[in-house]
Amino acid sequence: MDEHWAIPAVVLINRSKMAQKYRKLRLILGDQLNIRHSWFEEQNEEVLYVLMETLSETGYVRHHIQKIAGFFQAMRAFARELQERGHQALYIRLDEEANQQTISKNMLHLVEKYGIREFEYLLPDEYRLDMELKKLCESLPAKTRACDTEHFLTRREEVAEFFKGKKTYILESFYRHIRKEYGILMEADGETPLTGRWNYDQENRKKLPGKQEIPSPLHFQHDVSDIVDMIRRMGVETIGSIPAKDFPWPANRKECLQLLNHFVKNQLHLFGTYQDAMTERSYLLFHSRLSFAMNVKLLHPLEVVEACIKHWKKNQDAIDISQIEGFVRQVIGWREYMRGIYWAKMPAFAEMNFFGHQAQLPEWYWTGKTKMNCLKHAIGQSLEKAYAHHIQRLMVTGNFALLLGVSPDEVDQWYLGIYMDAIEWVEITNTRGMSQFADGGIVGTKPYVSSANYINKMSDYCSGCRYDKKAKYGQGACPFNSLYWDFYDRHRDKLADNPRIGMMYRVWDKMDGEERGKILKQAEKYKNQAGEL
Ligand code: FAD
Ligand code: SF4
Repeated sequence: MDEHWAIPAVVLINRSKMAQKYRKLRLILGDQLNIRHSWFEEQNEEVLYVLMETLSETGYVRHHIQKIAGFFQAMRAFARELQERGHQALYIRLDEEANQQTISKNMLHLVEKYGIREFEYLLPDEYRLDMELKKLCESLPAKTRACDTEHFLTRREEVAEFFKGKKTYILESFYRHIRKEYGILMEADGETPLTGRWNYDQENRKKLPGKQEIPSPLHFQHDVSDIVDMIRRMGVETIGSIPAKDFPWPANRKECLQLLNHFVKNQLHLFGTYQDAMTERSYLLFHSRLSFAMNVKLLHPLEVVEACIKHWKKNQDAIDISQIEGFVRQVIGWREYMRGIYWAKMPAFAEMNFFGHQAQLPEWYWTGKTKMNCLKHAIGQSLEKAYAHHIQRLMVTGNFALLLGVSPDEVDQWYLGIYMDAIEWVEITNTRGMSQFADGGIVGTKPYVSSANYINKMSDYCSGCRYDKKAKYGQGACPFNSLYWDFYDRHRDKLADNPRIGMMYRVWDKMDGEERGKILKQAEKYKNQAGEL
């Protein structure tokens, strides 16, 4: 793609037209860019749509510069599209003098200034904003209404209702429920999955062979230097780097559909097979990079899976059902399930710390400057691209933070800031729940920890590493190995009864006592020198 698409310096604000004529204000948040929403079915001159950039949203965590620029780019394009379709839209830029820098203050100001009689908003996906908007409504001198975003396949409460009375929420049963309800990959009876199987995990998840060809990612080339200059001028603290004149993320729905099409044609056929593979040769492999497009609602999850299934149906000789099932499971399974967990367990979820971990995240999580090749690669890539795929997040950065005993608050802050797709409902459930097991086993049945063995099995990272993947202790021993046993040893009281883990304790207990001592001593040394690893 060599297409350049500059963002106009000032978007949409025709203040002279703004008068008392508006009866209703409708707020659209930065992750609510759903042009197919029923709100937009009719034009009404009395309805004013409002989108805004505020310091409260750029500052609640230290975000990646690409994340802020990407959101602003998409919001501005969306506001422009609304106007092109004949709607009245007000866009408040971050650097406007009149901007009061929080959503509530700006809305209150507008409602009072224009004598607005009705205020409507789309239900936020974040608890924080849900609370803020409810509070705002109490203080507004107008009739208020919250509307559905018409984005998800399931209701906010659906997971809570589905698992009522259960301690562990098993994804598989919820996923099957959605498959049946929407008739996705089902036989005509609506009860049996196509081919009779629900799950193809065994066929999937292979290591990438050295000679496997990897498709090139589809990168857009936007010039976002104006936005980046504004972010810097406004003193917003950010992390990571940005190619401001060659910004690769989609700006609008048309480009998101191009990204979907690119995935379907070039990556879907091997998605499942290499879903868990990691390599220095590619940051993306066969992953879709569609999470940002879906999370800001430029794409609907159902249209994403329908496009994949349509392509698969026409190419069944070239694409095995295991590939398509693997992808569908992520989008309508994991994604909906995590959202349901979020609404079932917030706000308590954000406080959970099952292991009582308190250590700090090593400084090199913010720079990528570590000798451990897997971490250097996964963090370096995240800082450069605001992206890492699932297994890099879970089995490299998340795994190491858990082994080290880092406080889940710190781990959450890192994940919430660094990724393009990071919005709390899907970040915290994955980080605190799946990755850190801080929820004590609501999301996962056991902690996702591993020694170098797994990383070496699924990647080519270890061959280029200064550490010895086989050694558990001694000079140059891979830190994952001793920390792995140390983790199990120090959490025996919490984990030994878990039927999926018990075997690890039998292996550990059978080890020679002197050997165990050396491993624990090594782990202690590494924990004390975490910043230098
Ligand atoms: P693909 O591999 O192509 O998968 C397709 C889609 O499936 C994704 O776009 C996503 O929408 C969905 N999906 C896949 N896995 C999950 C999952 N576990 N939970 C929810 N949806 C899933 N995802 C986010 O969208 N935002 C986050 O902030 C986020 N934080 C994470 C933090 C940790 C510690 C971990 C382990 C995972 C996190 N994930 C998050 C889930 C997953 O890693 C990303 O959705 C995925 O890597 C995005 O890349 P992709 O679009 O190329 O995904
Ligand atoms: Fe990572 Fe250890 Fe492998 Fe090095 S040897 S890449 S630190 S797992």
